[in-house]
Amino acid sequence: MTELRTLKVALLGCGNVGAQVARILIDDAEALAARAGARLELTGIAVRTIDAPRDVELPRELFTTDADTLVKDADLVIELMGGIEPARTLILAAIQNGASVVTGNKALLAQDGPTLYAAADKAGVQLSYEAAVAGAIPILRPIRDSLSGDRITRVLGIVNGTTNFILDQMDTTGAQFEDALAEAQRLGYAEADPTADVGGLDAAAKATILASLSFHTRFDLENVHCEGITGVSAADIAAAKDAGFVIKLLAIAEKLTAADGSEGVSVRVHPTLLPREHPLAAVHGAFNAVFIEAENAGELMFYGQGAGGTPTASAVLGDLVSAARRIVLGGPAQTETTNGQVPALPIDAVNTSYYIGLDVADQPGVLAKIAQLFAEHGVSIEIMRQTIHRDADSNVESAELRIVTHRATEAALAATVRAVKGLDVINSVTSVLRVEGV
Ligand code: NAP
Repeated sequence: MTELRTLKVALLGCGNVGAQVARILIDDAEALAARAGARLELTGIAVRTIDAPRDVELPRELFTTDADTLVKDADLVIELMGGIEPARTLILAAIQNGASVVTGNKALLAQDGPTLYAAADKAGVQLSYEAAVAGAIPILRPIRDSLSGDRITRVLGIVNGTTNFILDQMDTTGAQFEDALAEAQRLGYAEADPTADVGGLDAAAKATILASLSFHTRFDLENVHCEGITGVSAADIAAAKDAGFVIKLLAIAEKLTAADGSEGVSVRVHPTLLPREHPLAAVHGAFNAVFIEAENAGELMFYGQGAGGTPTASAVLGDLVSAARRIVLGGPAQTETTNGQVPALPIDAVNTSYYIGLDVADQPGVLAKIAQLFAEHGVSIEIMRQTIHRDADSNVESAELRIVTHRATEAALAATVRAVKGLDVINSVTSVLRVEGV
């Protein structure tokens, strides 16, 4: 048997994911070498604090605080530090030195992906980032490779485990948002500062990556309409449940024709009502899933753990073996195709169904007034349900009205909601949420 060549691997970061990557590289060295066709030698691990406590016991001599020197002498660089700098500079330095790079840094890719992709293309090296979207779930390579002979029309993703856990808790226990968030923090599913997760930004970063690969066009964060879950109440969840829906935070990228006939892609993140029988409705806890619709393949669903050191390390190692194989076999690096040039459409172009919650006076003729106003704005009602409440102290009755519309544009819906607010029988509009999958 011929002796395998050795490829030098530099690891930047040894936290939740990096420590597991280092462990697998060392413990599984033989199997990885057989699959990659080269020995993958971990030459060093760059960290901030050499003696910080680690999840995995690793040889101390591997650690360094000098990341710049470490990347200079590597064939493959794994960036798992997170954040924008120095990750960005180190990745660019690695690429310029001819190393292929594997990263899980969705924040950096969403902010400055095009610079990094262009640098990798120019240097003829591989830049892979399967771990950046939905952790362990193989989703980017299936989109880029397996579906490259098809046309993707729509991607719906539950790509943030924290928000899925919170919404699932609210759905199963009736908890308020704040209590479900506290539980997520207690169990380690949410960070002390949960803003990026509950505000939808983390999902928006992943949506840009999914949309770019699916529609062969580079989208960035500015193209994403983003709403988080902080405004979703226990009452919204209960009302949705009552009507046969579940609320999920979805990252959506879909091909659309706007009312003016222009074609493009809408990329958006928002809380969404899904029918309980939709496959994504069965994604519980902190799990992730991505549902794809393609012209020829039809519907596909990818499900699994979207975070966690060991699951995410699996995606990183997959990218590493694939990049190593390419080095061994030679030939050009695999790049994304970005010849799509599809414009990003604004949220106003979206045509979807809506769920609207109204607190109304309990008077005769109210329902007819509201129904007429919807009709005047060209928004047709699919379901209208009323529940009567009596205030125990004042003895005043009010009614909660829940409406699900047929498909309508954002603009028509917004005009309807404005007009509804002006009616004297309306106490308040309690919620306006989009519906998918009907
Ligand atoms: P983490 O636990 O915070 O670890 C970060 C590591 O990077 C630490 O070892 C830290 O060193 C090192 N580091 C940070 N800044 C550095 C600097 N300036 N110089 C040298 N080393 C530095 O992060 P993580 O959870 O493993 O996440 C890593 C990346 O994977 C992020 O981009 C994240 O978005 C992505 N990702 C994570 C998950 C997940 O489940 N955690 C899932 C998907 C993707 P010290 O240890 O010395 O502080």
